[in-house]
Amino acid sequence: MADVQLTGVKKSFGNTEVLHGIDLHIDDGEFVVFVGPSGCGKSTLLRAIAGLEDLSAGTLEIGGRVVNDLSPADRGIAMVFQSYALYPNMSVYENMAFGLKIAKADKAEIDRRVRAAATVLNITDYLERKPKALSGGQRQRVAIGRAIVREPQVFLFDEPLSNLDAALRVRMRYEFARLHEELKTTMIYVTHDQIEAMTLADRIVVLHAGRIEQVGAPMDLYEHPRNLFVAEFIGSPKMNLIPAELVEGSARQATVRTVGGDVITVAVDASRGRAGDQVTLGVRPEHLRLDGSGASITADATFVETLGNATFAYLTYAGLAETLTVQLSGEVRPRSGDRLTLHIAADQAHLFSADGNAFPRR
Ligand code: ADP
Repeated sequence: MADVQLTGVKKSFGNTEVLHGIDLHIDDGEFVVFVGPSGCGKSTLLRAIAGLEDLSAGTLEIGGRVVNDLSPADRGIAMVFQSYALYPNMSVYENMAFGLKIAKADKAEIDRRVRAAATVLNITDYLERKPKALSGGQRQRVAIGRAIVREPQVFLFDEPLSNLDAALRVRMRYEFARLHEELKTTMIYVTHDQIEAMTLADRIVVLHAGRIEQVGAPMDLYEHPRNLFVAEFIGSPKMNLIPAELVEGSARQATVRTVGGDVITVAVDASRGRAGDQVTLGVRPEHLRLDGSGASITADATFVETLGNATFAYLTYAGLAETLTVQLSGEVRPRSGDRLTLHIAADQAHLFSADGNAFPRR
């Protein structure tokens, strides 16, 4: 068990800097997920913590010890990769025992650790099987088992579920949550999938172009995205963004006129805004509501998806090039061509200034 401290961490490949000074503290026992679009630097950051990449600048501490110059094996970490590359001619037991054997661990100790890990992962019945006789999910468990037997202070997971099909990903997501609950070891997990981030993390670190955009508990990021990037990245389907003009702003609320001419009130501290400022109104698909009172917009459905448990309607709105997305309950089934009046509660809307930063929600 250990905390992890990154201070001013930079990484360049040749002349190209891809991490621009990362400061982050991860608590002992915390489950932290690095999330961000492809190429934002999340794998590089994880590999730097693992010791697979040297830092160009900054310090990395694990359990209070500076590890910049330590080899991966000496850092007290264990990493699980997307491709789990098991040895095909070894049994599950041998695959899990291999690292400890190389490290010349005592045979009884190896056996104790392999069996303990197999119990945690529910693969005790498969210990004598070869990897080819296992399903994708079972193979992934063996790869995790290889990490567990090392009894690391910190687990590092690099997109561990990307190679699995959708149904299995959901099951394994649950397994990761359970694993963390049982082991209580610090875990750092990289994914581009914001649903994995939302469901697994104690705290999410949103990365964009080599910088941290925001760090927070999942619901904190959902309810209080600091800027447009985080607002669009967290939440599925994406938040609707509607250009607007500030009519009036105070510390209590903002009144805006949208590009479609509707006047909407948003419960934010807009004291830094000026009347006439260009702003962006943000409303999540689940917060555009057919029922309710208060301000509303009117938009035309162009396409409707009925999923049974939910209905998604895609709408054109005057003056807006992109379609709006609305999430309705499954029983509600508008048709394309229908004109919908959608209410926006002041305390469910978001507002961003022209520089992309959010006005603080109240
Ligand atoms: P992510 O995991 O978020 O998709 P990466 O950490 O893999 O992103 O990559 C971040 C950036 O660093 C990308 O622009 C990528 O092309 C670059 N990069 C990663 N590894 C190398 C490397 N070994 N050499 C040169 N550039 C690299």
